[in-house]
Amino acid sequence: MSIIKQSLTDFMTEVLKLRAPQRRIAIDSLHTLQDAEPEYKRFCDLADFPEYALHLISKPDSHNGNHYCASAGYEEKSKEYYIVIPTYRNISKATVFHEFTHLLDMCVYAGARTAPARGFDRTLPD
Ligand SMILES: [Zn+2]
Repeated sequence: MSIIKQSLTDFMTEVLKLRAPQRRIAIDSLHTLQDAEPEYKRFCDLADFPEYALHLISKPDSHNGNHYCASAGYEEKSKEYYIVIPTYRNISKATVFHEFTHLLDMCVYAGARTAPARGFDRTLPD
């Protein structure tokens, strides 16, 4: 399991354009993600896991008053799985495990054809 190499390069290019506080959050979240990978694989006893792209979102995406803290999906056009992490709040290991599970579900059970799955957090202020 790993982040698609080109995607990681693109991600870092975007991260370098951010202001310091957002940059720190994005890097911390990247580390949380990378640290969680081997643990998640062990936890689920997985030999394999889909590669995924990493996307950034810089503004809370309001939908019915919900702000999501991370999301996972599959893009038909590029045929890539992806995880979106925000630059406005750190993601926890629990969130990473949650999003990895979405990727796994999409890959194994839905054959990749599914709408983006989002982790909502109703407690975030506007
Ligand atoms: Zn979810």
